[in-house]
Amino acid sequence: MAVVENLSLEFESAIHKSSSSGSSSRSSCGHRYARNGFCITCKSKVDKRQGRAFDYILPGLRISHEAVALLKRSTTQLYCLKKKKLHLVLDLDHTLLHSISVSHLSKKEKYLLKEADSREDLWRLDRELLTKLRPFVREFLKEANEMFIMYVYTMGNREYAKSLLKLIDPKKIYFGDRVITYDDSPFNKTLDLVLAEEREVVIVDDTRDLWTHHKSNLVEISAYHYFRGSGKKKSESYSEEKRDEGENDGGLANVLKLLKQVHCEFFRVKKELESQDVRVLLQELLGVEPSSPTPSNQKSQPETITSVKTENSNSTKLHSKTLPSIDNLQIS
Ligand SMILES: [Mg+2]
Ligand SMILES: [Zn+2]
Repeated sequence: MAVVENLSLEFESAIHKSSSSGSSSRSSCGHRYARNGFCITCKSKVDKRQGRAFDYILPGLRISHEAVALLKRSTTQLYCLKKKKLHLVLDLDHTLLHSISVSHLSKKEKYLLKEADSREDLWRLDRELLTKLRPFVREFLKEANEMFIMYVYTMGNREYAKSLLKLIDPKKIYFGDRVITYDDSPFNKTLDLVLAEEREVVIVDDTRDLWTHHKSNLVEISAYHYFRGSGKKKSESYSEEKRDEGENDGGLANVLKLLKQVHCEFFRVKKELESQDVRVLLQELLGVEPSSPTPSNQKSQPETITSVKTENSNSTKLHSKTLPSIDNLQIS
């Protein structure tokens, strides 16, 4: 219950202020938070389908659409306007790391099994799975945390996400319980589950197609492939060649530069904060139309534009179709 209580404590006063007068009296409870079919506030039985499920916050929790809108508004008020923090939604697979089933390792990659215990960027999660952190990820999280409230949003299941976060963020400094998984939204990814106004949420993901309705919030990062994997082309992988993406010129370093620009630009003019929008800023900074992956305006920071985007945007799409299995790995 602690999470909901925190939510309530943190946001209830803002919600009461922003909702119309009188609507919060006990007799006319709006059933904003329900758990397992009962309103948390007034204990009445409520329709189990009302509102939206937020199991990642608390199993069985549903929040009414009205309350979600108010929570989004009040979160933005609290963090964005008062603490100068935006929100950042980060994908896991091929964005922050690369996982592979041990059985899919090529002959040339078997040496990694011996190294997994002694390296800080390579783990054997259980017998079946090997995970490699993307270069620069720790620095990225540390710096991004100064500018953003961060979420993880993965198409992996909850167990998979949990076991990785134990390694990436063991003290829950960066993500807290803000971890959205396949279990919360199996068909696509949506900002409906992120408690912040969309105008201040940036997404970093290598798979554009999953974000059906929020492509203008998306920074499409080049997909990180460390292992050879089953669907890979004939050229050798980083692991086979015993090399890696660059720390300072790889996908995460380049995205961080862009995120700094977005953050700086968002808060540049204080009186414009209420109308500022990361979607407009991203469009300006990337110099692209929202629907087109090709940079058309090279005027602003061309080195960022080219390096943030995938060198070959087809490879991202190809990947999402050919390697879906790793995203749904079950860990028992
Ligand atoms: Mg991914
Ligand atoms: Zn109620």
